[in-house]
Amino acid sequence: MLSNDLLKILTCPVCKETLQPDEVKHVLQCQLCGLEFPVKDGIPILLVDDV
Ligand SMILES: [Zn+2]
Repeated sequence: MLSNDLLKILTCPVCKETLQPDEVKHVLQCQLCGLEFPVKDGIPILLVDDV
C-alpha cells in the first residue's frame, strides 16, 4: 500500500500524530483524534473537511 518510509513522515494535519494504515479500508487513521484519510492510487489525501 504505502512504503514505511512514507508512513514515517506522514502526520495528522490536525494534531500532528503519526498515522496508521488500515489496509482493509484503504485509509490512514490518526490514533489520537480518530480522523481517517483516504489513499487514492497510493497517494494519501491529507485534507480536513471544512466544518
Ligand atoms: Zn489527529
